[in-house]
Amino acid sequence: MLIGIDDTDSPRGMCTTYLGTILKKTLEQELGDSIELRLIRLNPTIKFKTRGNAAICISIEHSYDVLDIVRKHIEQMAHLDDEATHPGAVILDNEIVPSDIQSFANDAMHAELRISDATALIDKHGLDFLSYKKGRGLIGALAAIGATLGEESTFELIAYRFKGNFGEKRYINTGSVKYADLTTYPYTWDTVDRKHKQVIFAPHSPDPILYGIRGEDPYQILSAHRKIISEPFEHLTLYKTNQGTDAHVRNAQIRDLKEGRSYVVTATVTKEPQTTTGGHTFLEVKDNSGTLICAAFEPTKQFRATVRKLRFDDVVIVQGSYIDNCLHLEKLQIVSLSDQYTKANPICCNKSMKSLGRKQGFRCVKCKTIKRVPHTNKTSERRDVMVGAYEVTPSARRHLAEPLIRRRNKGYAIFPSR
Ligand code: ATP
Repeated sequence: MLIGIDDTDSPRGMCTTYLGTILKKTLEQELGDSIELRLIRLNPTIKFKTRGNAAICISIEHSYDVLDIVRKHIEQMAHLDDEATHPGAVILDNEIVPSDIQSFANDAMHAELRISDATALIDKHGLDFLSYKKGRGLIGALAAIGATLGEESTFELIAYRFKGNFGEKRYINTGSVKYADLTTYPYTWDTVDRKHKQVIFAPHSPDPILYGIRGEDPYQILSAHRKIISEPFEHLTLYKTNQGTDAHVRNAQIRDLKEGRSYVVTATVTKEPQTTTGGHTFLEVKDNSGTLICAAFEPTKQFRATVRKLRFDDVVIVQGSYIDNCLHLEKLQIVSLSDQYTKANPICCNKSMKSLGRKQGFRCVKCKTIKRVPHTNKTSERRDVMVGAYEVTPSARRHLAEPLIRRRNKGYAIFPSR
């Protein structure tokens, strides 16, 4: 059976994964059955999210009557007094997830759904559920059940702090994290941002998480975890997850982009990128359906340097979330680079000749020779960027965005940020 839960936390603390971990321990003690925890990330642009738009799914091998245990945990742990917290839980007492619930989950990763979309499916399938206040958490709870994780899924090992340390500054030895990363990358990722010498696997908010190690191989993740020197942790949970899978993006043409959704678009650069004060870089691209402004914002760091090297007619595949009519770039694949030329006047006596006016020719500034050539010379410009895939710096990466290092051996060059 599957139990989906969402929307239990608030900016003051808590985390739905923490509730999942505590509930899993209780269920294991009460039922003595095998239990798997899943961490499902949903549409990253949803305005209702507290932090990373996460929901959880608890998968239990056999069927039990668990509604009261789930209710007790939500009522004891959820921040019900916070005006933006609207918990929901859904239970599917079946091994097979109906296809319309799977579609609902797919949509919840990409689009914005209504609470009534979730309740209609809950009614249709006669599912047990718990809904508090507005019950918006039912959307995430049902989506967590519907997200049947395939081969592309990844893992995250989360260490939770002792209650007495909640809200206190986290103690984590930086050197040990760097060592853990060095010995397990590329099977783990986003532990440190090497270029900016930052530890990025620990939150700064008052929630119960000490740190989370992401990767595609649980053994490598555990090996990294064993190397980390930190304050003690009270719980340790391995989640199977859709993080790092690009589950939020869909291929689309420019005219079909919808606000608040994430896309992959193949297009051609229309002009030289512009950088504004604040260091944000904007790029205009077009396909045969329209033009699109893309943005590489300051937090994407060195990624902007690649974007700035693009020129008219380069062919690119851009990926990101479409917000306020602008694609917020997460990744960029340069498919082909156009020939670029710099115009220059003809040379005489080792010096550039002077133009005599439009179509009038050129005069040598030294020997005064006149050349009646109609045009300036064109010299081919060396393109200081390579064809291949680029990504934002790890600290700016969305939970769902696939790190480029996972695309090794896909037949094109990758330039992972690290
Ligand atoms: P945490 O990371 O601790 O779980 P959060 O960032 O996930 O916090 P929530 O407090 O769970 O944020 O709030 C997100 C809310 O948005 C939930 O009520 C969830 O059901 C709802 N939601 C998630 N995805 C969608 C979607 N695609 N459309 C509409 N609502 C959604």
